[in-house]
Amino acid sequence: MNFHILTLFPEMVMNGLNTSIIGRAIERELLSIEAVNIRDYAFNKHQSVDDYPYGGGAGMLMQAEPVYQTYKALTDKMKLGEGKRPRVVYLSPQGKTFSQEMAEEMALEKELVLLCGHYEGIDERVLEEIVTDYVSIGDYVLTGGELPAMVMVDAIARLVPGVLHNDVSAEFESFQDNLLEHPQYSRPEIWHDRQVPPVLLSGHHVNIEKWRREQSIIRTLNNRPDLLEEANLSEKEQKFLQEYLRERGTDCP
Ligand code: SAM
Repeated sequence: MNFHILTLFPEMVMNGLNTSIIGRAIERELLSIEAVNIRDYAFNKHQSVDDYPYGGGAGMLMQAEPVYQTYKALTDKMKLGEGKRPRVVYLSPQGKTFSQEMAEEMALEKELVLLCGHYEGIDERVLEEIVTDYVSIGDYVLTGGELPAMVMVDAIARLVPGVLHNDVSAEFESFQDNLLEHPQYSRPEIWHDRQVPPVLLSGHHVNIEKWRREQSIIRTLNNRPDLLEEANLSEKEQKFLQEYLRERGTDCP
């Protein structure tokens, strides 16, 4: 999979993404990440890419033409074929909130372009012309789209086959099945007088699996009851949940 990040701060995204698991995946050529500097496509001798917004207001706006020229140079290089356009995500607090489901869907793309705004954002006209998806990483406003782009690349890249050592570790994680992951423990068996739950030491895989599912249900109930409403629980698990709620003294999540 190839990520193309259009940004005014290429070194920021590359420094952040070139390490650890993603860095190794790049080395192994499972994915590529390029950051394209929008300033290289400035059309004036001062290389400025922003200007005042029409109608007044605070701050500066990134101009349409440098963003368009950056996009055009990239798509010309991609050679996608007549009339074909890549998927272009504009990182924006006004977009749809990023989720694991979106990461899974975007991990199926071969090419993904991420457009980072800065200052007060980008001239609307170029967004209308090139953007296919508007994505936010949460209901707060950041100074630029670089951190959101890095968040998206990290979440998507780890779903690309082969990127994680063990593909199974991408399968059983929080948000799959609308459940949060169960608690995890490593050596030693006792730490600060706290014992690892005995079932995990039993070697009994069926019991371990059952315990993990139940812990996932309890965790989701306590931390994200909104998710639990959509979770696909078996009859036995629903009974377990009702029993747990009865013991806790509440009838519903
Ligand atoms: N004036 C814009 C508004 O009110 O919608 C906010 C602009 S923000 C200061 C500058 C840039 O940061 C945006 O163009 C966007 O690329 C990025 N950004 C800020 N918050 C974000 C968020 N929660 N998710 C994704 N991108 C964000």
